[in-house]
Amino acid sequence: MDGSYGHASSAGSPDPSLAATLSLMPDPTIRVRIAPSPTGQLHIGTARTALFNFLYARHVGGTFVFRLEDTDVARNTTAYEEDIIGGLHWLGITWDEGPDVAGGGDIGAYGPYRQMERLDWYRAAAERLLAADDAYPCFCTPEELEADRKAQEAAKQPPRYVGRCANLTADERSARLAEGRRPATRFRVRPGVVGWDDVVRDRIEIDTANLGGDFVIVRADGTPLYNFTVVVDDAAMEISHVIRGEDHVSNTPKQILIYEALGHPVPVFAHLPLILNPDGTKMSKRKSQTAVDDYRAQGFIREGLVNYLAYLGWSPGTEEDILSLDDVVARFELTKVQKGGARFDRERLEWLNGQWIRKLAPDDLVDRLRPFLQAAVDDGRIGRMPTDDEVVALLPIVQERLPTLAAIVDLVGFLWTDDVPVDPAVLVPKRWDPAATREGLTAARDVLAAHDGVTWEADELEPPLRALVEERGWKAGDLFMAIRVATTGRTATPPLFDTLVALGRERTLARLDAARAALDGR
Ligand code: GLU
Repeated sequence: MDGSYGHASSAGSPDPSLAATLSLMPDPTIRVRIAPSPTGQLHIGTARTALFNFLYARHVGGTFVFRLEDTDVARNTTAYEEDIIGGLHWLGITWDEGPDVAGGGDIGAYGPYRQMERLDWYRAAAERLLAADDAYPCFCTPEELEADRKAQEAAKQPPRYVGRCANLTADERSARLAEGRRPATRFRVRPGVVGWDDVVRDRIEIDTANLGGDFVIVRADGTPLYNFTVVVDDAAMEISHVIRGEDHVSNTPKQILIYEALGHPVPVFAHLPLILNPDGTKMSKRKSQTAVDDYRAQGFIREGLVNYLAYLGWSPGTEEDILSLDDVVARFELTKVQKGGARFDRERLEWLNGQWIRKLAPDDLVDRLRPFLQAAVDDGRIGRMPTDDEVVALLPIVQERLPTLAAIVDLVGFLWTDDVPVDPAVLVPKRWDPAATREGLTAARDVLAAHDGVTWEADELEPPLRALVEERGWKAGDLFMAIRVATTGRTATPPLFDTLVALGRERTLARLDAARAALDGR
């Protein structure tokens, strides 16, 4: 390969409008795919891989194929299929070929797009390889292979197939078959070097002596294995660019050998950097939150999550942070994907998500908040469901303070609950003692009680309380914190006076009374 990937825009145009113009010209030679296994929930890494394939396809006007690697019949479920397809669609990722809904029929001319419906393809390819002696039947028993492995371990050698069945004569094979032994199919690894120009990782060359010997492509029970099926599928579907996680780099040489043996053109490979935990370790289901659905359940919105995922291993090379999916499509270059691992930074995700929440129209935001409020009603964190109008009225003070949709409950849930527990230890400001706090709250209550419903406005409440602070020689922060905790039970809320307005006069006064009672130990 010469490093040109068959289309003009991957040369790296810095001008997004030019890139957008180029993308208007569809390029039928570019076909990319993802091939998840429906054996688990949509993983953040799969979503990132899907996104980068989608971005590349849309940027160059290529075709994006969705295929299911569903040969692990024991672990596949339709529910996982639904989770994967639904999660990708939720993120705004669409494809041109493949099943569009879980369990649904295929769209596209290269189907079927489920491996279990492609078994004839694998059988035919395995027969071709056997006929050409690029593969051979292997009769080794699990016990023999295990003994080989142990011997190699004892000799401190890396595990490899010893080649026991590599050169059996036709008679020897027939004799074993006559004994009723069922052979696996093993691919014959040629000596030499396999190399490719990875779009992300540059030139990679591997001596085939390091591949562990001839490898099984079809098990004795007839199940074809990943490195084999993926090549058969990618070739049949005329995939031009294989964009996938770096964890597959070690599979690529085996796959290239199979392409060569089958006489198919080898696609371009682009291996995306791993997604790492903040401490630099590999992101794993056990250590990290990896299911896209969990992020959705925590109130991340699609615009924020997809913007964040786009930056996991790619950047436009400018200072821009906040990019819509369309913006990223216009700017996306495979050649700008980084080599180094991409650390998952939850704080940055929350920040970006908050930026996107700020951009939502009020009605849209209220719609998206409703399930989170309902969940809080259902589990008793708040006492009642606010009306849409109540929520809309609050948006000026909450919209820019929400890192996630779910944060609404912590931020202003005290508005919709009768019982706000006030912890006297939190109520007493650092520089005050309980007696001073009681005195402060009493004076504040008197000032506030002098207002009627008409003058209960933020800019009416603030000046007299500031005057009180001045007169007594207090610090505003102390008094305001005591009022905040007394009326909300929390130390962090939207601005105090807006909060008191949202609470209303009666509830504000009642909560100040209750807080004083709590101080008195009543
Ligand atoms: N099922 C594999 C995975 O999701 C596909 C790998 C590939 O893209 O070749 O990791």
